[in-house]
Amino acid sequence: MDNCMVKKNDIVEVYIDGMGSEGEGIAHVDGYALFIKDAVEGDKLVVKVIKAKKNYGYARIEKVLEASKDRVEPVCPIARQCGGCQLQHINYDKQLKYKEDKVKDCIERIGGIKDAYMEPIMGMDKLYNYRNKAQFPVSVDKDGNVVVGFYAKRTHNVIPMSTCYINDRINDKILEVVKAFIVENNIKPYNEKTGKGLIRHIVTRIGYHTKEVMVCLVINADDMKQSLKDDLINRLMGVPNIKSISLNINKEDTNVIMGNKLISVYGNLYITDYLGKIKFRISPLSFYQVNPRQTEKLYDLALEYADLMGNEIVWDLYCGIGTISLYLASKAKKVYGVEIVPQATEDAKTNASINDIDNAEFYVGAAEDVVPDMYEKSKGSMKADVVVVDPPRKGCDEKLLNTLVKMEPRKIVYVSCDPATLARDVKWLSDNGYKLVKYRAVDQFGMTTHVETVSLLQKKDM
Ligand code: SAH
Repeated sequence: MDNCMVKKNDIVEVYIDGMGSEGEGIAHVDGYALFIKDAVEGDKLVVKVIKAKKNYGYARIEKVLEASKDRVEPVCPIARQCGGCQLQHINYDKQLKYKEDKVKDCIERIGGIKDAYMEPIMGMDKLYNYRNKAQFPVSVDKDGNVVVGFYAKRTHNVIPMSTCYINDRINDKILEVVKAFIVENNIKPYNEKTGKGLIRHIVTRIGYHTKEVMVCLVINADDMKQSLKDDLINRLMGVPNIKSISLNINKEDTNVIMGNKLISVYGNLYITDYLGKIKFRISPLSFYQVNPRQTEKLYDLALEYADLMGNEIVWDLYCGIGTISLYLASKAKKVYGVEIVPQATEDAKTNASINDIDNAEFYVGAAEDVVPDMYEKSKGSMKADVVVVDPPRKGCDEKLLNTLVKMEPRKIVYVSCDPATLARDVKWLSDNGYKLVKYRAVDQFGMTTHVETVSLLQKKDM
């Protein structure tokens, strides 16, 4: 077939027959795939080709001829420009179907597994204002005005924003107050190009059950003048239930938002929240799931898949502040957690102690170093009954998986935020003695393309 039929700047009429991993619509013109941002499966569109590669291309919507039955008007006026939500223009049922299909497709295509049972996706009850954590970049616009908001998709241009529809509404007030603090004190936002300027990001967290509020300013300096700190405290006292104000030091030329050092400005360097009956202290540097309501469902599912009797040795790898570990501890004999961020590991230990949990132990370090090292030292006697892994998007290191299978757990419960790396690791495990029994997607991030999955793998020879 001649694939050169479609050229840059062509205007073509298309029907959207699928969706890509970034939430974009896909159309086929004589077998040639066009990826179209903001297009919905079922749309009939006129599009303009903006890039034509050999086997596929990209196009932009010129006109909607007939809208898909799943197309809706986004609630947020800047949904199209902002890089945060990719699916606000698609109704929620279709979003769930899209995520479920994405996970299933990865498991079947990348994982090569077709006989595992996929349970129906667990959706959210509250579609907006569900996030408990936000990181807002601070910058200046071309006229020199301070802007606080969000990065436009694939850029570092800050789009000014006064409310984010997926975040807790308390952020509106925090942004207003901190922006006034910056403008009225004539503080310069950080400039990525020159490396000058003080304030880089405003990071916030809100306790779901406790409603405690944390504000952390990421600054490009070692500290901030006491008079400025006092003014900041004064202004933020107007935010209900503010419990923690801090500075995070980040003087590096990097896209990583937070540096390692924290300075307390007001209150504790943490807020407290509950998941189920367990109380957690959360510091600015620690990972904590962003949608607490769905997190409870996610952990309940992990617990259900682990199906503990009370006499098991459990390992919880990539444990963060010990959330899953402590959830599992009451049902197990002993839980060992491993986490790479020292501050999070400290939080995990504190969280065990404030909940009077004495059968959980935490180690700091990369799981792929700590677990193989401990296994070597035990001369192969270190075993596990159940292993839970909850890695970041890049998935598990093969060195870790290699040791895990030697520890011969009966079950591996894999909690994943990236279906592609999940499928890769599940494939490795199924080639090395484990069978994927069932899996279930849980939506933690409505309006975005992200999805969590819990999978149960069982040792084959049992
Ligand atoms: N299970 C926790 C955290 C999951 S997020 C929860 O649900 O809250 C993934 C965690 O893995 C983060 O806390 C991150 O700091 C940690 N991490 C990233 N790379 C790691 C590695 N190589 N070894 C151990 N932990 C790692």
